Amino acid sequence: MLSVAAMAAAMAWTVPATGPTIISTMGPEIETKQEDPEKTYIGQFTVTAYCSCEICCGKWANKRPNGIIYTASGAEAKNGETVGAAWDVLPVGTRIEIDGLGERIVQDKPADWIVERYEGRILDVYFGSHEAALEYGKHTVDVWIIEDGKEE
Ligand SMILES: [Zn+2]
Repeated sequence: MLSVAAMAAAMAWTVPATGPTIISTMGPEIETKQEDPEKTYIGQFTVTAYCSCEICCGKWANKRPNGIIYTASGAEAKNGETVGAAWDVLPVGTRIEIDGLGERIVQDKPADWIVERYEGRILDVYFGSHEAALEYGKHTVDVWIIEDGKEE
């Protein structure tokens, strides 16, 4: 019969290590983002940019009481916070990380025909000025969910 100490020693061979992941020392370019357990990688999305101007928003640009820019969710559009997404893919309130841009919250949604064109894999990021939106342009980048939105 094995002693408790001998059993523990035997088990040490079969129980996977739970310590911190050993990160390769190959160099600073090593991509470690996808190993973050707090985030869920959801693949690449096409990311476009918009602002509140008439060029970006068309008729909606003229429906703004007090100059406040309201998103489709009712929340005020904010630079560095607001992103539009297909709500059946990423529900309102979902916090995501967009590679190269950082965290955004789903508050708005692109037009249906845009969502259809990209089969739902589209993000439209709100910028505070038309210049900034133009400068960002359009990219295809990695996206992670940080926190799920609440389905209402
Ligand atoms: Zn604009």
